[in-house]
Amino acid sequence: MDNCIFCKIAKKELSSEIVFESKNVIAFRDVAPVAPTHILVIPHKHIASLNELNTEQRKILLPEIFECIDELVEKEGLKEDGYRVVNNCGENGGQTVDHIHFHLLAGRAMQWPPG
Ligand code: 5GP
Ligand code: ZN
Repeated sequence: MDNCIFCKIAKKELSSEIVFESKNVIAFRDVAPVAPTHILVIPHKHIASLNELNTEQRKILLPEIFECIDELVEKEGLKEDGYRVVNNCGENGGQTVDHIHFHLLAGRAMQWPPG
């Protein structure tokens, strides 16, 4: 997608601090972190949201995204204190960038319910 900032980050046309990359998945630090650790995990392929994942992509991409999260949890030393993984989907979910992404948040105690 021409106008998608996350596609541009995935193609390295826009700079970001990349912390993980595999064939299908890339992770980078959020430009406006809301926790000491705030990483976004996305597929390289432009998929607008969780709603748009087809059955095949659900089978292939979701496990890869969670493998990436596992690796980051290990690498960033987050296992012991815990962390939160968030996907915002659509308007009510609070999604602001229309390229599916999972937030990995850690480094402080989170509250519940979300605002
Ligand atoms: P959403 O609200 O859609 O779930 O999350 C979008 C996230 O993308 C926000 O946390 C926002 O700070 C982050 N973001 C928006 N633009 C950029 C950017 O250009 N670079 C990076 N690294 N993060 C971005
Ligand atoms: Zn995109």
